Amino acid sequence: MIDKIQYIETLIKLIELNNDQTWTPTFRNLRTGGYLPGGGAGSLNDWGPSYTDNFQHTWYSDFYGIMRYLYDDQLRPESIADYKPIKHNDKYRILRCVDCNGRYQHPSRFESHVAMKFYRENLVNFYNANKLIEILNPLESYECSAIKLFRDWLKSEYNRMGIKIYDFVGAEYICPYCGRQRSDTEHDLYKIEKQLFGKMKLNHIKNNAGWHDFE
Ligand SMILES: [Zn+2]
Repeated sequence: MIDKIQYIETLIKLIELNNDQTWTPTFRNLRTGGYLPGGGAGSLNDWGPSYTDNFQHTWYSDFYGIMRYLYDDQLRPESIADYKPIKHNDKYRILRCVDCNGRYQHPSRFESHVAMKFYRENLVNFYNANKLIEILNPLESYECSAIKLFRDWLKSEYNRMGIKIYDFVGAEYICPYCGRQRSDTEHDLYKIEKQLFGKMKLNHIKNNAGWHDFE
C-alpha cells in the first residue's frame, strides 16, 4: 500500500504554489475522494503548473511530472527510477552551432539535470520519513549544500568541455560564439560516466545524435 495522503498533500501544495489556480479546486478535491480528469486539448493533461522564479519553475515543473507519474498509477516512490526523464538523466543533450561548432545549452535544461538527480536520490527518503511535502522547501532541495556542490561541479565539467550555459531563447537565437542569428544547430550527446575509483566525469559520446540516443 502506498501512503496516498502524502502524495495528495504534496500535489496540492505544489499546485497552490503555482501562478495559475485553474486546477487548484480539482486537486483539493482529492482529499475527499475526487479524481484527476483525463482528456485532450484544454484538459488537465494539457496543463502544467508555472512558477515566477526560473529556478523554482524548473524544479517544481519537473517534480510535478514525477508526482503525476507516481500518483496517477499509484506507484510506490521507488518507481521514480523507471520514470523516463530520471532513467535517462545521465544523458545530456548539447546544442552545437553548425557554423562555428560552438556548444551551448539552455540554463533550464542544465538545471533540470540537477533537479532530476536530486529527486532520484532523495524522494524515497522524504517519503519514508513521512515528510514528502518538505521536499518543496527550497532549503531542503535546490538551495541545499549538497546540490550547490553538485551544481558547481557540473558547471566546471561544462567549462572543461567548452559548453556554455546560455539562454539562447532570451537572446533571440543568436549564437554566443559567432554571433549569427538562427544558424543551424545539431544535438550532441554527452554522458555522465563513472571513472575508475568512482569519480564522475562528463564525456562527449557523439555528434549529431538523434532522439533515440537520449532514450
Ligand atoms: Zn556559432
